[in-house]
Amino acid sequence: MKCITLAARPEGAPKDSDFKLETRPVPEPSEGEVLVRVHYMSLDPYMRGRMDDAKSYAEPVPLGGIMEGGGAGEVIASNDPGFKPGDMAFGMFGWATHGVQPAKMLRKLPEGLPITTSLGVLGMPGFTGWYGLTEIGKPKKGETLVVAAATGPVGSMVGQIAKARGLRTVAIAGGADKCRLATEKFGFDAALDHRAYDDARSLRKALAEAAPDGIDIYFENVGGKVFEAVLPLMNRFGRIPVCGMIAGYNTGALGGTAGAGPDRFPVFWRTLLVKHLLAQGFIISNHFDRYGEFLNEVAPLVASGDIAYLEDIAEGIENAPAAFMGLLEGRNMGKQIVKLA
Ligand code: NDP
Repeated sequence: MKCITLAARPEGAPKDSDFKLETRPVPEPSEGEVLVRVHYMSLDPYMRGRMDDAKSYAEPVPLGGIMEGGGAGEVIASNDPGFKPGDMAFGMFGWATHGVQPAKMLRKLPEGLPITTSLGVLGMPGFTGWYGLTEIGKPKKGETLVVAAATGPVGSMVGQIAKARGLRTVAIAGGADKCRLATEKFGFDAALDHRAYDDARSLRKALAEAAPDGIDIYFENVGGKVFEAVLPLMNRFGRIPVCGMIAGYNTGALGGTAGAGPDRFPVFWRTLLVKHLLAQGFIISNHFDRYGEFLNEVAPLVASGDIAYLEDIAEGIENAPAAFMGLLEGRNMGKQIVKLA
């Protein structure tokens, strides 16, 4: 099989030499395990964190280890009665053309929808958007929501669910094409290109016009300039589901002192205090007990076309590192996937 391993821990943005394409023997499934040939592999921002040797909610990928990740494909051998060759399944096979997992760690794919949906709109990222918005954001008709990375699988789910529940939705996205997608494909009421504003102050001015009644829910995907622009515009009793901070993933600013600017905590805490804001972080892997509920609600909406989705599919495992580096810089148009078979 072919796989991509972690050759070096990146300093700042990952580069080609941090990854290595290797050929290894196809693993054999033991008792209770299943061997899958991966057809589509998912690339997600969290993988950047796994490349660092830093304490986090999950262990880092060891040097020389296969990069972590989920994929969907066909069962080719099974030592578990729950799966037979030909079944389609999702599992954490890593950046690899084949993978073995215990049957209990696999999810059978529903029939009738393209299997790529199990990686994006109906997979972990779509579920993340739905969970964070409904559980923490608690959207109410007539409120205003802002989300960045708005054309990605998390942001586009957040925007569409919020819109369906009667909120005004404001997208923040990188570039004119993504802003057009946000309004035309994903139904946002307004879209702002964060790259068109030099600083938080000018972005805030534009946001204030796009959200004339203030912001009730800020779904935090990026941090950085966008967060600074949003915070003073939050309404009293606003909610901030803290989902990700991709603006900081390559800068070193999230781990230690590197990249730390002036101390902004007093401003942040004071805003939380005087505006009665709720900010709550969440790691979606701790909430999969709700996944069935999400699928029951959202899968029919995807099947009927009421929830739109967009996928960006790279071809071949050798192109996974470039696609991943592009994702971190916003070059992806929709859910980043790699086609392997
Ligand atoms: P996307 O497919 O949307 O890809 C990431 C996007 O982030 C890029 O396309 C780019 O969009 C945007 N971006 C990158 N750098 C910046 C920057 N400096 N400022 C603003 N935007 C930037 O990703 P996902 O939908 O998969 O994930 C979105 C967020 O959700 C990430 O932060 C991710 O880590 C987080 N997440 C958290 C989970 C959890 O359990 N808490 C689970 C899943 C995801 P653009 O070009 O539009 O700016």
